[in-house]
Amino acid sequence: MKSLPSRPTDLELIERWRGRSGPLLPLLHEFHARDGHLSESALSAVSEGLKIPIAELYGTVTFYHHFAREPGGHARPRVCTGPVCALRGAEGVITELRARDERPTAMACPGRCDLPVPVLRGDSVFEGRPGTGLDPSPSPLPPPPVEGVTECVFAEIRRPGRATLAGYRESGGYRALERVGSGMSGDEIIAAVDSSGLAGRGGAGFPTGRKWRAVADAPGHPKSVICNADEGEPGCFKDRALLDLDPHAVIEGMAIAARATGALIGIIYLRYEYPDTLGTLERALEEAREAGYLSRAPVVDSPAGDAGPAGSGGFNIEVRRGAGAYICGEETSMLNSIEGKRPFPRERPPFPVTHGYNDLPTVVNNVETLASVPPILARSDGAAWYRALGRAGNAGTKVISLSGDIRRPGNYEIPLGYPLARLLEEASGPPAGRSFQAATMAGLSGGFLSRDEIEEVTLDEPSIRAKGSFLGAGGIMLFDDSRDMIEVTRGAMEFFAEESCGKCFPCRIGTVRLVERLSDDGPDDLAAWLEEVDDLNRTMKETSACGLGQAAPLLTESLVRKFPERVEVHVAGGPGAIGGES
Ligand code: SF4
Repeated sequence: MKSLPSRPTDLELIERWRGRSGPLLPLLHEFHARDGHLSESALSAVSEGLKIPIAELYGTVTFYHHFAREPGGHARPRVCTGPVCALRGAEGVITELRARDERPTAMACPGRCDLPVPVLRGDSVFEGRPGTGLDPSPSPLPPPPVEGVTECVFAEIRRPGRATLAGYRESGGYRALERVGSGMSGDEIIAAVDSSGLAGRGGAGFPTGRKWRAVADAPGHPKSVICNADEGEPGCFKDRALLDLDPHAVIEGMAIAARATGALIGIIYLRYEYPDTLGTLERALEEAREAGYLSRAPVVDSPAGDAGPAGSGGFNIEVRRGAGAYICGEETSMLNSIEGKRPFPRERPPFPVTHGYNDLPTVVNNVETLASVPPILARSDGAAWYRALGRAGNAGTKVISLSGDIRRPGNYEIPLGYPLARLLEEASGPPAGRSFQAATMAGLSGGFLSRDEIEEVTLDEPSIRAKGSFLGAGGIMLFDDSRDMIEVTRGAMEFFAEESCGKCFPCRIGTVRLVERLSDDGPDDLAAWLEEVDDLNRTMKETSACGLGQAAPLLTESLVRKFPERVEVHVAGGPGAIGGES
């Protein structure tokens, strides 16, 4: 008879993580998985074991949405009530789960806007459809390439077996790492990345080569390469697809970054809501270690050695799982989270390139940015090749996540500079009998484009910024002419109010005040309403410390500018009008 695996003791769990880089989050996850929640005694043991004052530990644990504090909490279903799922029957899914006595709770967008309503239960994700129950929810392949477009990160992703080491190598994988490992200096790698024009694809758009150069030149050891896989922006789900379907591309990109900068510590910070991805990544990392592309040494804060051939001499990568906090997508919040601190954004400067993880030089790159590196460096003319993929003076490609009122939602890789209207045609346009009323940009953070603007813009920052918005990470949610734009904006602002970390007053209070103005609470005189909202918008944009507080007002600003008639009806206390675009 087989014996059951024994339940690890508190001390065994603590010893497993003592001395490792960023031990707090993984240790809390171990207790959470073992007990089904974080009990008082578990927190006392962690406080004692890692020498963290208990009050500080409580502050950190309760910052996150997904650490359950009551028994059985980990297994309770959490249902997405984000902007797209709210339109697709999230309330119906919650009602059905309630009827089955499963005590569901709402959760913010878990990055599956291309699929039916996601439900997270324990460490599994399901698709919820009102009336049909819950089904497993694997990442779908991206739709076929857009006609006439040469892809970069999606070029091989549809090949069967691409997520395995064998499948990845069969389709050219690890050729770039082998190439840079057999004769390219760090300077040469950085020069190639620099001249490709590759820039951050997580939203900030900072030139990747310049970032790597700053880390390579900065004094301090050990340096780190951190992959930001915490795409918490509603409407953004491209990183999930890349990690699920092409994990080795991200690993290879990180190993090349380590080779270029001399980094020894590699960490993938993965959002909590991607439990399936965690397993995929762990398998891929083990394959990469087995093949010698990564070291087997545990990732610790004071490693010995240096990055040897192919970046493997001492460079290893471990996954650190987040616990549910939108603000951790901001790079300095993420660094605090990995270090086990409360994940408030840090003051900048200094920047992570000199004072990042553990206050040492750190590359922080987005998943898509890192996955773009191997196709560039596998080619002798990769820099010119990549640069030429873009259009109208833009370098390279961008993955755009389409969701909402669009017939074929999904991730599409397009050349930067590609017309938005043409992409929407490729995705089969709005639902039958409908027309587009609005599109959000940068997930929610870029506010709205109107119907006319959707027709006018190309997908690149200069074009979209000229409309008062920005492309960001490339999430675009469509709303057809049946949607009430006040309701859509209120739901979006409620998200920001919930996710504001509370560190600075204008954002903490301003988001709540804007939710009130979008509800029934506020002046019923239009001029007074507009003046108040404008005052809130301006104050938040000018004084908030990070992107959340600076971007949230773009929603109300664009609502007022682009849907003035709907605002007028709302302030007058009229019924929810349909449409209303000026
Ligand atoms: Fe936190 Fe908002 Fe201030 Fe950003 S702007 S630091 S989210 S309170």
